[in-house]
Amino acid sequence: MKGLLRGLRTTLRTLIRRPHTAQYPHVEPELPERSRGVIALLEENCTSCMLCARECPDWCIYIDSHKEETPPETEGGRARQKNVLDRFEIDYSLCMYCGICIEVCPFDALFWAPDFAYAEGDIRNLLHDKERLGTWMRRVPESTWPEGYAGPPVSPAEAAQLPGGGAAQLPSEEVEAQAAAQVPGDSAVAAESKVDPTPGEQPS
Ligand code: SF4
Ligand code: SF4
Repeated sequence: MKGLLRGLRTTLRTLIRRPHTAQYPHVEPELPERSRGVIALLEENCTSCMLCARECPDWCIYIDSHKEETPPETEGGRARQKNVLDRFEIDYSLCMYCGICIEVCPFDALFWAPDFAYAEGDIRNLLHDKERLGTWMRRVPESTWPEGYAGPPVSPAEAAQLPGGGAAQLPSEEVEAQAAAQVPGDSAVAAESKVDPTPGEQPS
């Protein structure tokens, strides 16, 4: 009888105790902002140096690039060559999230974002191309942004959901287009005024 009462007491205590488990996916987990969820690519910083691909222990980063000549910046100067990224892919079906690629990148082009919910029914879809890797930049915590980086451009729909409407992060053309659309009757005029005149013709 004594043992039975002790058992019941334990059951009751457990019933009223706050659970340690989270009801994912109904409740989103609160992860530290620097969690290793997914790798984001800041394409403008990548010089196609291949260091990350060479150091990756799983060989799951694929990079292709070509060279392009840029005209000299000053008269009489020399033309320069620069690498242009054609392909940058990470195969998340092989990646072991070691972070070596991020550590070795000398140009601050790779970052951790905390997102983890990108499982796929088809394993081939775990190969993220540079466009998809670029979209993860929107989730990279501001505390890890490289110096001089003003944040990723966001679409008007996404901007509306950001605190303050997110106008500060919109590219200037999109801000102008949004402003024009808010003036009744003037949006068509504003849109027309943004179209370049035919070469040789001057706007009247
Ligand atoms: S986190 Fe590690 S395994 Fe994954 S791509 Fe980077 S270096 Fe390769
Ligand atoms: S190490 Fe950095 S800059 Fe070099 S290819 Fe990789 S991401 Fe690009």
